[in-house]
Amino acid sequence: MTTVGILGGGQLARMIALSGAPLGLRFLVMDSAADACAAQFAPMVLGDYRDQGALQEFASRIDVATFDFENVPAEAARWLAGRVPVFPNPGALATAQDRLAEKTLFREHGIPVPEFAPIASRADLDAAVERIGAPCVLKTRRLGYDGKGQFRIRDSESSVEVAWKSLGGQAETVGLILEAFVPFERELSVVAVRGRDGEFRAWPVTENWHVDGVLSASLAPARVDEGLAATAVGYARKLAEAMDYVGVFALELFCKDGRLLANELAPRVHNSGHWTIEGSETSQFENHLRAVLGLPLGSTRMVGQACMLNWIGAMPDAAAVLAEAGGHWHDYGKAPREGRKVGHATLRADTPQELAAALSRVGEALGRDGQVAPVVAALGGAGK
Ligand code: AMP
Repeated sequence: MTTVGILGGGQLARMIALSGAPLGLRFLVMDSAADACAAQFAPMVLGDYRDQGALQEFASRIDVATFDFENVPAEAARWLAGRVPVFPNPGALATAQDRLAEKTLFREHGIPVPEFAPIASRADLDAAVERIGAPCVLKTRRLGYDGKGQFRIRDSESSVEVAWKSLGGQAETVGLILEAFVPFERELSVVAVRGRDGEFRAWPVTENWHVDGVLSASLAPARVDEGLAATAVGYARKLAEAMDYVGVFALELFCKDGRLLANELAPRVHNSGHWTIEGSETSQFENHLRAVLGLPLGSTRMVGQACMLNWIGAMPDAAAVLAEAGGHWHDYGKAPREGRKVGHATLRADTPQELAAALSRVGEALGRDGQVAPVVAALGGAGK
């Protein structure tokens, strides 16, 4: 019996464990929160990633390790890799943890990125704002997620001052980076998988909508022409090969004037790939396990059209989604809390028109017309 260890016990670990059950796998998660939601389905080692004793116990009970969370200290990942196989490799994890390292990697491989500059001091910030121009975004290099650790600088000197006041204290701890603000037409992601033998597969490119930096809805396939989709997938492949990456990852991209700019790479299964559970032949979670275990990868072929809606803060009533022929419900078993991802729904249909109609019905029933509206518009409207 193979036991897969997962560092991090959130909803991603939970969905990995659920998808691994039919493969006959066992799981062990490690998390510092006693109420981590994956622990409802898998035993857990409760402890901080810097706690050697807890890591030792974790390592002794697993055959292979992976992550549900990228901000595991690189030293912990390296220590573990000296004892059990770890995928993705700790070097890839370290690069993807650091916005400066990953943007530098993108650029080295000819992948276009918004202009950026490392920031170590207020003088650096002034010089970078001068060079890059406003609007721009000051971000922490590490530990930021879901729009946290970011500050948008609009145009004035006072806005630079406020940005520095809010994030300057972290210049020496997690580091800072300034990026040009991209007035994108749409946001896309490539969710892809690479096996231990180097085999690479990508799911159809996904289109994403964020609210306050947090993913709100994803639509697959994205409305992009084949050439652009192939370019996006080509970037993902190049990066996976450069990092000798094994497992599932997501490359987030902005699309502006028909051109792609890479934003970031998430070294794990990704929220914009949740639709693959019902919308494709093999889900991102199962293919991640197949990759990590050296098994043949499953097909990433889509089944129809799919839209995922994130539930943030509290779960709505499930009935409207469950009443849809292609409606699927995912409750992560978390206590409600403002800003927290507590669940999602996926709607699947054979045609864009049917998907738009289902989304409209669900949006209306749940009082979430605003959340579904951009997706319905992207699909060409809900008809009558
Ligand atoms: P991130 O944590 O970098 O993925 O940022 C979260 C979200 O904030 C992105 O998905 C975008 O919607 C927005 N965002 C981040 N960086 C930029 C940027 N340079 N220009 C425009 N929007 C951005």
